[in-house]
Amino acid sequence: MTSPAPVRVVWSREMLAYDFGHGHPMTSERLDLTIRLADSLGLLAAPGVDLVGAQIASDDLLQTVHDPAYVAAVHRASVDGTPDLAFGLGTTDDPVFPDMHEASARVVQGSVDSALAVWERRAMHAVNVTGGLHHAMPAAASGFCVYNDAAVAIRALLAAGAQRVAYVDIDAHHGDGVQAVFWDDPRVLTVSLHETGRGLFPGTGHAGETGGPEAPGTAVNVALPSGTGDAGWLRALDAVVPAVVRAFAPDVLVTQHGCDTHGLDPLTHLRVTIDGQRRAAELLHDLAHEVADGRWVALGGGGYAVVDVVPRAWTHLIGIATHHPVDPESKLPEEWRALVRERYGRLGPDQMTDGRDARFSPWSAGYDPGDDVDRSIRATRAAVFPTLGLDPDYD
Ligand SMILES: [Zn+2]
Ligand SMILES: [Zn+2]
Repeated sequence: MTSPAPVRVVWSREMLAYDFGHGHPMTSERLDLTIRLADSLGLLAAPGVDLVGAQIASDDLLQTVHDPAYVAAVHRASVDGTPDLAFGLGTTDDPVFPDMHEASARVVQGSVDSALAVWERRAMHAVNVTGGLHHAMPAAASGFCVYNDAAVAIRALLAAGAQRVAYVDIDAHHGDGVQAVFWDDPRVLTVSLHETGRGLFPGTGHAGETGGPEAPGTAVNVALPSGTGDAGWLRALDAVVPAVVRAFAPDVLVTQHGCDTHGLDPLTHLRVTIDGQRRAAELLHDLAHEVADGRWVALGGGGYAVVDVVPRAWTHLIGIATHHPVDPESKLPEEWRALVRERYGRLGPDQMTDGRDARFSPWSAGYDPGDDVDRSIRATRAAVFPTLGLDPDYD
């Protein structure tokens, strides 16, 4: 009897170099606190877990998605700190930092290695919480993202023989970079569930964005009203994602778990809880087993409540992916809380739950045309379900 393939968790201390600095929302303190929490709960040394770092991706690999001129500009900025605004480098969102190229390319390699390990069955699932840098464009840094690790990983899967890849992005912001890369590629389904672009960066991700002329129905966008909480967010996820992913029948599922949907996130206006985020991760895990024979690559993404949200959200994600789910009722280890006290001079969260039940009412129970969340869901279903052979009302 062979034992099941391990679950790959991407991490090494070198990954902390992807850091826009203390005081910038994308400080790598968020990753440090996450990994310390997962470690103190025993997840990283658990049976069947393969903890691996990553090398620096080659320029050739990066250029499967990014323009050579952009990669060259990142190299230059990385060496001498010179901004290059034509490529989005040196802005408030994307300031230049030392070794920016190396740090960003390492994140990419971590996601590519994860994708190939899952594809080749060397790993059951893979998680890279340093990845999910979904705003990076082929020729520009954007929204705290330098290289688009998700898009490069998907390109690597296609090159390795995958026929169809589904990408599901549950970050509060629209997954615009990944959508742009695969806009006209019928082999890749991109699904993004996010706060409406009316009030939030990057301003795109409307229901009517459904893919290019060669790939109709392969972009799916659910733009939720600001203020949406667990019940609405999970209802929307459940009403759209499983149906479109099943209809697309992917070989692999790649997911982005930006946790800036939380009510405490300083940059967005959704009101999801840790319990809602955990339930979403479970749903996507189950979906990967159902539709892609378990081939699942889970990435991080946004999340700027550095102490209160990111470590718990992604520790749950790691727990689910490694098949060692963390009991929501568990207390956070005292050593982790002491570190927070020492670093931030305040108390961090003490439980792995926000005390919510993450319940929602499924679409099949009926919809309310007077409800803003339901109207958003309905708009997405009407825009894209028929192209995928689904009924907007009954599937
Ligand atoms: Zn985000
Ligand atoms: Zn599993």
